[in-house]
Amino acid sequence: MPTDPSCLFCKIVAGQIPCHKVAENEHALAFLDIGPLSRGHTLVIPKGHWVTLEQVPGDVAAGVGSLIPRVAKAVVEATGVKDWNLLQNNGKPAHQVVMHVHFHIIPKPNEKEGLGIGWPAGKLGQDEATALLMKIRASMD
Ligand SMILES: [Zn+2]
Repeated sequence: MPTDPSCLFCKIVAGQIPCHKVAENEHALAFLDIGPLSRGHTLVIPKGHWVTLEQVPGDVAAGVGSLIPRVAKAVVEATGVKDWNLLQNNGKPAHQVVMHVHFHIIPKPNEKEGLGIGWPAGKLGQDEATALLMKIRASMD
C-alpha cells in the first residue's frame, strides 16, 4: 500500500498521530473530524495514500465504500440526526485540504450546522451530452 511519510492521514493510519477512531476494515479507517461542521462529522479514508479518488484501486475503493454506510448508520443513530451529506473533494480548487483521499460524513441537524452547498446548475443539451458520453465512455477502463 502506498504511503507518504509527510501526510497527516498516513501518520494517523500508522498510529503516529492519535485519532478518535470510529471503525476500520482491511482497507479503510473512520475517525472523527477534529474541525467538525456538525456534531458527529466523521472522515472515512483509505489506509493507503492516494491523493484523489480516481487513483484508488477498485478493491480499496470497495473497502472504503462498504465502510461508509455502516459508519453513517451509526452516526445517524448516535446523533439522532437523520439527515446528512457525503462529501468527497478532489484537488485544492475543489476544496481538498488534506491531500489524502477522504470522505466526509456530515450530519445536517438544521439550516445553520453541517454542510452548506453552492449549486450553480447549468443545462445539458442533447448534442453536448452525446459528445461528452462518447469521450467519457472511450476513457473508461
Ligand atoms: Zn496519506
